[in-house]
Amino acid sequence: MSFEACASLSPVKRDLGQPAAPGGRSVSGDGRDAAGSGSLGSGPVQEAARLGVSLGTAAVLGMRAVRSDVPPSTAYLMTEGRCIYNCPFCAQARESRAPAGLLSRVTWPSWPAETVLQRLRRHFRPPAGRASAGAKSPAMRRICLQVVHSPGWEEEVDRFLEGLRAEEDPAAPGGAGRCAPAGLRPFVAPVCLSLRPRNLEQVGQYLAQGVDKVSIAIDVVNPAQYARLKGGAQQAVLDLLLAASRAYPGRMATHVIVGLGETEEEAIRLLEQLHAHGITVGLFAFTPVRGTRLSHLPPPPLGQYRRVQVANFLLAQGQRPAFQFSPAGRLQSLGEPQERWRRLLADGRAFQTSGCPDCNRPYYNEHPGRRPFNYPRPLSSQEIARALADTELPGLCGGGDL
Ligand code: SF4
Repeated sequence: MSFEACASLSPVKRDLGQPAAPGGRSVSGDGRDAAGSGSLGSGPVQEAARLGVSLGTAAVLGMRAVRSDVPPSTAYLMTEGRCIYNCPFCAQARESRAPAGLLSRVTWPSWPAETVLQRLRRHFRPPAGRASAGAKSPAMRRICLQVVHSPGWEEEVDRFLEGLRAEEDPAAPGGAGRCAPAGLRPFVAPVCLSLRPRNLEQVGQYLAQGVDKVSIAIDVVNPAQYARLKGGAQQAVLDLLLAASRAYPGRMATHVIVGLGETEEEAIRLLEQLHAHGITVGLFAFTPVRGTRLSHLPPPPLGQYRRVQVANFLLAQGQRPAFQFSPAGRLQSLGEPQERWRRLLADGRAFQTSGCPDCNRPYYNEHPGRRPFNYPRPLSSQEIARALADTELPGLCGGGDL
């Protein structure tokens, strides 16, 4: 799952481009599990390839005239084509009746792929006469491609990656600094691919091309719910993810959704496993979307999400709290020493969007007028105090004076 909600963006002028009706996509891992689910197929290559661009990304790239209170710090893109799978929480699932062009709460107009790639190359190009080092940072500092498992997705990914390579020679100043594999021009920015690879070898092939991180979404925490909602065995996906994390340390990521029938204990135990393997975790709150099969379900209570957020943050920092749970699986305490946890949580980063560096996914799960699940920016001291109080964990409430 991902990205900015249309709620944070308001059109102020006519569109600058002529996007088509946004293409259908499911995000990261909306396909079946890679192991044991059969071939994903390599169908005919689409002729005029298009890319979906999240509305916030399109604004930063100058493709849509919209105002955003918090722009994305990662360019969020999706490959074109209706997903062949049917995840019931996804607006673009095969049987979804969600409005076209909606993914979670985000609008994704599409443009010809080459137009998008040109804009990206321009956005990330260092100012004339200056190498990458010392150049002014672009507004977005990473590129994330959500790959839809429609026929021809592998060819689309290959074309996308090729189109993202800088024009410079890898031996030129600044080129080598971007970790380009030997003989390849570097990408214009760190690139994440969020997809369901066929196998470990395919993960290695993308990383060998210079991709910074490959994300394989688990999405659903509880294995039984996973089988019911996504189909297939969660363990097969987990096995692939863990094997990839051992083969390519620090290069794997995943997405975890809170609010799909799991207990907090189940979520935190899974997070422990993921972080122990150095896997980057993008944490999401389940977001009901009109037209999807789970549209009738509520999002998780904020307190539940906050507790999992706190655990996720501490684990990502290399901490190993002695979590204590109620018989029903609710997190009741971080254990001792509480003063340590208070100190580590005092800056509020635990409540900001988690995931790859510079991934802020503004308002993807959020509703206007409600407090965000994931803050796409640093929190004020008042927001920190409220978020800590939301956890209802001993030792964290009254955090305004931390
Ligand atoms: S966490 Fe990584 S893979 Fe997931 S949306 Fe953010 S940048 Fe993309």
